Amino acid sequence: VPPHMRMDAGGNVRVVVRVRAFLPREIQRGAECLISMDPISQTTTLHIPNDSDPANAKAKSRKVIEEKSFTFDNSFWSHDIEDRHYAHQAEVYNSLGEEFLDHNFEGYHTCIFAYGQTGSGKSYTMMGTPDQPGLIPRTCEDLFQRIEAAQNETPNISYHVRASYFEVYNEHVRDLLVPVVPNQPPYYLKIRESPTEGPYVKDLTEVPVRNLNEILRYMTNGDRSRTTASTKMNDTSSRSHAVFTIMLKQIHHDMETDETTERSSRIRLVDLAGSERAKSTEATGARLREGSNINKSLTTLGRVIAALADPKAGRPGKRNRDIVPYRDSILTWLLKDSLGGNSKTAMIACIAPSDYEETLSTLRYADQAK
Ligand code: ADP
Repeated sequence: VPPHMRMDAGGNVRVVVRVRAFLPREIQRGAECLISMDPISQTTTLHIPNDSDPANAKAKSRKVIEEKSFTFDNSFWSHDIEDRHYAHQAEVYNSLGEEFLDHNFEGYHTCIFAYGQTGSGKSYTMMGTPDQPGLIPRTCEDLFQRIEAAQNETPNISYHVRASYFEVYNEHVRDLLVPVVPNQPPYYLKIRESPTEGPYVKDLTEVPVRNLNEILRYMTNGDRSRTTASTKMNDTSSRSHAVFTIMLKQIHHDMETDETTERSSRIRLVDLAGSERAKSTEATGARLREGSNINKSLTTLGRVIAALADPKAGRPGKRNRDIVPYRDSILTWLLKDSLGGNSKTAMIACIAPSDYEETLSTLRYADQAK
């Protein structure tokens, strides 16, 4: 295979954008939708708010961008305005999650990130609500349905599923499947590197799961652990990266030769910390360090994905693979095996319908990841 055609030479990164619906309070104050999406070209356009204060000299003196367009692999719409179909949870799953699960059964590692400011719909997209389940519960459901169907069709293949759930907060790793002990400081795990397996979290809980109900229970408990700890620690959940991992092992038993072969893949579903920049007024001391650490992970992730999406990566003589900066943050280092190499990556850029500055920054971030 010529190097520029290798699996890691671009083409393995998918970038999509999803605008969330208005919240009741936004409808109440008559917030305006600053986003339009073209379903044919998949172009997302951000329009400058026309209610921008004309008395604001600073804003006026800036070079005003009237509108800014970006094209992504897919765009998911959530409004009744414009003649465009509303993308419900099922559609996001059908157009992305389902294909990624196909790749997992083929033996690829996959990684899906939700990126965006706090309140832009990251958890809604990944976790969803009991009535509107998101990508994680839908992936789990589809996974066990496929396993059940396959067990009848190909009884010589056995399937083994394990799950883990951790969060990266301020460059520390916390196990979300270990219950939070009341009145105890959070317990952080160490990161090790194995010559064969690469970086891993030492002593991280990895539970075997036999069915959908079991995995959903772990998911819910982990989520609860994330929020319990975060209430104690000043709502850190918007400032931590939550990584839900499903490990799928397929053991193929050849009846004739009596030999077995294994195929393992990892499914990473990541709800990233809010991308909003630490406001200068609160950026002092611990907050500042925390803010810069969050930015460090997000900035590094952006650079890693951009390097992977670069078609030049992997060409002989370029040594681009060497400069993929995995080691610059805990998150990218831990996800190294799921980014690049034998893996597929997707980034879902989540945006709010009426927030100009943060949306522009999210769209730019997503744009550089293409
Ligand atoms: P984040 O995880 O980015 O902080 P959330 O997922 O909590 O944001 O979303 C903020 C609010 O918006 C929640 O009340 C959520 O239910 C709602 N929401 C998010 N995305 C959508 C959507 N596509 N359609 C309807 N409501 C949404």
